[in-house]
Amino acid sequence: MTDYQLFINGAWQASHGTERIEAIDPATEEVIATFPRGTAADVDDAVAAARAAFAGPWSRLKPKERARLLYDLARAIEREADVFAELETRDSGKPLPLSRKETLSTARYFEYYAGVADKLHGEQIPLGPDYIDFTIREPLGISAQIVPWNMPLNMIGRGVAPALAAGNTVVVKPAEQTSLTALKLGELFQLAGFPAGVYNVVTGYGPEAGEALTTHPDIDGITFTGSVETGRRIMRAAAVHIKPVVLELGGKSPHVIFADADLDLAAAEVAKGIYSNAGQICSAGSRLIVDERIREPLLERVVARSRAVRVGPGLEGAGQSWPDMGPLVSAEHYERVMGYIDAGRQEGARVITGGGRPDGLSRGYFVAPTVFDEVGMNMRIAQEEIFGPVLATLTFRDEEEALAIANGTKYGLVAGIFTNDINRALRLAAGIRAGQIYVNEYYAGGEETPFGGTKQSGFGREKGLATLQSYTQIKNIAIRVR
Ligand code: NAD
Repeated sequence: MTDYQLFINGAWQASHGTERIEAIDPATEEVIATFPRGTAADVDDAVAAARAAFAGPWSRLKPKERARLLYDLARAIEREADVFAELETRDSGKPLPLSRKETLSTARYFEYYAGVADKLHGEQIPLGPDYIDFTIREPLGISAQIVPWNMPLNMIGRGVAPALAAGNTVVVKPAEQTSLTALKLGELFQLAGFPAGVYNVVTGYGPEAGEALTTHPDIDGITFTGSVETGRRIMRAAAVHIKPVVLELGGKSPHVIFADADLDLAAAEVAKGIYSNAGQICSAGSRLIVDERIREPLLERVVARSRAVRVGPGLEGAGQSWPDMGPLVSAEHYERVMGYIDAGRQEGARVITGGGRPDGLSRGYFVAPTVFDEVGMNMRIAQEEIFGPVLATLTFRDEEEALAIANGTKYGLVAGIFTNDINRALRLAAGIRAGQIYVNEYYAGGEETPFGGTKQSGFGREKGLATLQSYTQIKNIAIRVR
């Protein structure tokens, strides 16, 4: 059992407050660590450290030197992958192989953005013989990163790596449910030789430490991933001091399955799309929109796959038969997901598999893979983000109706299309309002591909080169030549 401190200015620092938050293992419901309930004074310290690092040592480094540090950090994360993976699994519940995969992907973010640190140049703009005009790309300054609990370390890689590559420094506020890997990463920043104050972590609750950070006058930008409701609050907070924001707010993403699709492949991808990380992924495919002519054979396959999902504690299995799915992150979230399952039943949808706790698991926040059939467009389970292993099935008669259903929520994050007709795939890809489209493989893409939402899924792009726009600003310099 570890009692963590805040990570500020390159060192562990006690909070100005005295209260602590308990980290709970969602598979056993036991306390595994504690960390500070950060205060506004802690945020002041972290922002001051980030400002000093930005004004001093971090800005004085050559871009290629920043790149080397980021590469070194990537290698250090890879070396420590087992340690981070185990800590993530204890803290969040996800199966160990998934934690390991997300840890290696975190390393990959630092590697990928290390590669661009020395390539962020401006351009020369022709204004005729009397002028020389060029642009430079400058870092914003201090990036505030508000991180959710579903992929705690990985989201830090996604936001912090490009921020640092572009020359910013960061203050991270991890989610109160899963703060441990964010703190532990501080040790690797130290070991890799980063200047103090480049990476700072203040733990605590959203309305306290989170709000103190997002309303702080001396930050220069906010990256937020989480719920729509909090996103709205963050936008208001950003308005106080006119700070730019990137908002990644989740979704109700569709799998659209046409009659000509490979049904075995589609069923496998549908199961992956909703059960990975127990459905706690913003881009989870939570609506199955299927041609009514193949509803039965497809659902048969999806149900068979759902029943084959092994559910259990993320550390159980010792390499032989790791669970495919762990518990949900917290007691509160478990109640929320179970509430949606009840709502689906009450609104008249039919549970065809799952629908409650899996057999044999009496403690821990486990929910069985659940498929609803006969779901109506306007039911809550068809419209609201459940963020759990719950799939809602809707049917269509033709392509037009498929498109209308796919677009029929307030969200627009991702969509999966399953068909062997390339023209149809491209028509749908153009017609669906979402930030990214997967054809014949759900979650296709990687750290290199831009990711973000339309509609109430948010705005701004993360991942790939696109995100660098959010961490730099362009300055134009026009020179009159006499
Ligand atoms: P949340 O939006 O409340 O929390 C996300 C982060 O924001 C946490 O670090 C939290 O402490 C912080 N936060 C909360 N209030 C804040 C405030 N006023 N100012 C600054 N920071 C604040 O999300 P949640 O309660 O953990 O989860 C609820 C729902 O959010 C989920 O069920 C899901 O729908 C959605 N969610 C989406 C994603 C995603 O990847 N898009 C991730 C996690 C949760």
